[in-house]
Amino acid sequence: MPPHEFEFSVADLDASGKDFRFPVRGSWLRGVLEGTEMKAGAHDGALEIRASKSGTDVIVHGTLTAELVTPCARCLGDAVVKIDGPLSILMVPGKAADDDELSPEQADVGSYEGETVVLDDVVKDEILLEIPMIPLCSEDCPGMSPGLNQKPDHESGGQGKEEEEIDPRLLPLLKLKQAEQSKKKERKG
Ligand SMILES: [Zn+2]
Repeated sequence: MPPHEFEFSVADLDASGKDFRFPVRGSWLRGVLEGTEMKAGAHDGALEIRASKSGTDVIVHGTLTAELVTPCARCLGDAVVKIDGPLSILMVPGKAADDDELSPEQADVGSYEGETVVLDDVVKDEILLEIPMIPLCSEDCPGMSPGLNQKPDHESGGQGKEEEEIDPRLLPLLKLKQAEQSKKKERKG
């Protein structure tokens, strides 16, 4: 097993760039998500990138997909989170001094050491950033006790309820209407 999941050699690159495709495997994702409530999804994702050299910098453009499972914010059931987004980063040589405190503006700049570009942390950060704050198992998740109070209402039917809910101020009007209707009937009959 390689020491890193997403790595390539700078020596392999020329100015026109080179395409790479790495699977985002569940086994790697599990390591990333260790200690969180999240789990790897059922399907592997993929990191598909084109890397090219600009001087000593390495420009990485591509897409990242990944699948993970996190507790639904409403019902605590499994919510499948599918990550599918662009990934762009500039890798500069040498260890950046402020590596641990990247501001959002600097977040798309990383560093590499020696001749090997390692994107594990980039991919990890991107995945963690893309996880929604309020993950839901479905858009219309009803919450902890779905339908417990709703079902009897639907089964008893709305008709009786509607009559009960008539605004009392409208009752005289309703009686007037009923009276008129019965008059018409009388005339006809
Ligand atoms: Zn839910």
